[in-house]
Amino acid sequence: MDTPDATAAPLLGSGATSSKRLSVLLPLPLAGAYDYRVDDDLVVGDGDFVAVPLGSREVVGVVWGDATGDVDDAKIKPVAARLDAPPLPESLRKFVDWVAAYSLSPPGAVLRMAMNAREALTPPKPVRTYSAVDDPLNMPPGLRITPARKRVLGVLAAGPPRTMPDLTREAGVGASVVKGLAAAGAISALDLPPGATFAPPDPDHPAVDLSDEQQDAAQSLCHQVDAEGFAVTLLDGVTGSGKTEVYFEAIAAALRRGRQALVLLPEIALTPQWFDRFDRRFGTAPVVWHSDLSQSKRRLAWRAVATGEARVVVGARSALFLPFDALGVVIVDEEHEAAYKQADGVSYHARDMAIVRAQLIGCPVILATATPSLETRVNVARQRYDRLELPQRFGVAKPPLVEAVDMRDSGLKADEFLAPALRQALTENLAAGEQTLLFLNRRGYAPLTLCRTCGHRFECPSCSAWLVEHRFRRQLQCHHCGYNAPVPKACPHCEAEDSLAVCGPGVERIAEEVQAIVPEARLGVMTSDTMRGPEAAMEMVRTIEAREIDILIGTQMVAKGHHFPHLTLVGIVDADMGLSGGDLRASERTYQVLHQVAGRAGRAEKPGRVIVQTHQPEHPVMQAMISGDREAFMQLEEDSRAAGGWPPYGRLAAIIISSRDGAAADGLAAALARSAPTGADIQVLGPAPAPLAMLRGQHRRRLLLKTGRDQPVQPLLRDWLSQIKVPARARVRVDIDPYNFL
Ligand code: ADP
Ligand code: ZN
Repeated sequence: MDTPDATAAPLLGSGATSSKRLSVLLPLPLAGAYDYRVDDDLVVGDGDFVAVPLGSREVVGVVWGDATGDVDDAKIKPVAARLDAPPLPESLRKFVDWVAAYSLSPPGAVLRMAMNAREALTPPKPVRTYSAVDDPLNMPPGLRITPARKRVLGVLAAGPPRTMPDLTREAGVGASVVKGLAAAGAISALDLPPGATFAPPDPDHPAVDLSDEQQDAAQSLCHQVDAEGFAVTLLDGVTGSGKTEVYFEAIAAALRRGRQALVLLPEIALTPQWFDRFDRRFGTAPVVWHSDLSQSKRRLAWRAVATGEARVVVGARSALFLPFDALGVVIVDEEHEAAYKQADGVSYHARDMAIVRAQLIGCPVILATATPSLETRVNVARQRYDRLELPQRFGVAKPPLVEAVDMRDSGLKADEFLAPALRQALTENLAAGEQTLLFLNRRGYAPLTLCRTCGHRFECPSCSAWLVEHRFRRQLQCHHCGYNAPVPKACPHCEAEDSLAVCGPGVERIAEEVQAIVPEARLGVMTSDTMRGPEAAMEMVRTIEAREIDILIGTQMVAKGHHFPHLTLVGIVDADMGLSGGDLRASERTYQVLHQVAGRAGRAEKPGRVIVQTHQPEHPVMQAMISGDREAFMQLEEDSRAAGGWPPYGRLAAIIISSRDGAAADGLAAALARSAPTGADIQVLGPAPAPLAMLRGQHRRRLLLKTGRDQPVQPLLRDWLSQIKVPARARVRVDIDPYNFL
């Protein structure tokens, strides 16, 4: 970027009445940017953070360009101040506008995501340090030298200034001793600007030796980084093929060019092993960004990204809105993951928006996965994306052997969920000293509790959902809104005592069954209930690696990227679970999850075995699991989507209406249906109750707009919604490319 020569730059305010106008975007859900006046003495440019009056308050916004309106001179308000923060780069401002237009969100609502580190906008506080006085002769006369004071003076006599925590630790004294010395003038206090907080990753740190296949893929990716242009590459590699090691080389290439790298991970807190490997490759940790970060960490990370000090950032989807200015590569790991879709607030798909971000910056994107999404597959076929393949597991590891167990004739009792074949396999695996993983994507003990006397079912008072029993906590919980209540002794409906029965399994119930089969086994349960925060996940991973756990039982959380060399058996308790419901991607997603879970087995020398319990062994998903023929399955999915004109062969947008008042929701839905757009390749489905017809006390109705691929849905929607008056007690939300059909 060119920096103008300061002496040659025209200074604002050189004329007597020079006041210019510009537009400022505020991080609020308003229709657009507002015009403000800049008075003589203030120098501001595009992207600068400024404080401006809004009504009776002062708000911080971003200079978005030249003024757009023609507000009266008398009415236009002045910019109050420019903040001492790095300006928002142009590429990010364009991205904010792009996302707003695409998702039909107010630009200010999108900007808010880019400013989601309010403290970062004020410069970091200086750090107070203490040092010895320059000249021993300046020591205050008559200073009482206690042993504690002597130690402080001794520490400072040698070496650089120390911060209070360092000094008290090194000298083994309390803060009052240091303060006393400073007050007496025996040591000097000095405020220094805070130093660098993030060590730069070293691209030339000794790395693993890549196999020839990995080397070829890495080289192609590095070429793209070196070309410094936009390109998208699918890194399509089987589980355990070393995709991470390969894309690390693209990061190294970006670093060598003095550029930044962004890695998106679907569930950042749960990937401690990823961080170990990063550290091994680059000799230091990356900068981390996710929504659970503390304010102080958020501020450090945000500023470090803006100043360029942060070289590699790994984050959840919100990291896309960080103020990168020199991105050299963006990596979306596990690109097929549904977790990349944000459905609340501004709805966007982080994989798709990563591609937009990279395009606006002009850098390559790498999509890594063992099970590419249908969208990505089609983009490869249309030659919009390149594809690199890693068809083999690294080293001697082979793909696991998958077999299905038909649960229709398993002969199990109503309270048993593990078929004899799986019981036997896990008993044998335990005897052989190997680890087993049992996968069931359901938290808690049982998904439904009912009264045997009257048939009453426990339902959430504010959602159309059953309450899930959590036996460890003795609670009934709603997994949608968090409602919970103690498990009652008697049925609240008929008051019969000891008449409650549970139906179906959750992971806790499976743990109970396993314990009964192999009482000597050491069990671990891994769900979001047992794994609160990254430390808990790290500890669980450690205990598995150290072989302190024999059988791991978990939800989707166990599927994510873990590499456990001694895990050789995977049991999928209920493979059919994700297949019900009207979700467009139900089969695809089920396949991806099952494939990923199966991919945890046999990642090292010992071969892996996967047992899939299913009621529909003939289902294409199960067939694909058994045969390992991903292509045939995906082709089938592709054909059916193409035949129905579903994405990516058509476009889809959801309109979700919600209201506490069911009649109001129905009325609004009907009004929307009446003014629905029409056209040759336009179809409006609904209104219908959303599958979760009630959520957090809100009645929900849904319409789906389905169009041909060449028909942009945004103008249609804008036009459609502008004809409708939304009553105060209802809300309308638009979700472009919906993934969640709840
Ligand atoms: P994927 O992401 O494709 O599932 P990973 O990158 O997790 O595969 O690699 C699987 C395992 O193999 C990891 O433990 C990784 O460190 C190891 N590995 C991959 N490639 C190499 C290599 N070239 N040298 C040493 N270890 C490797
Ligand atoms: Zn609920």
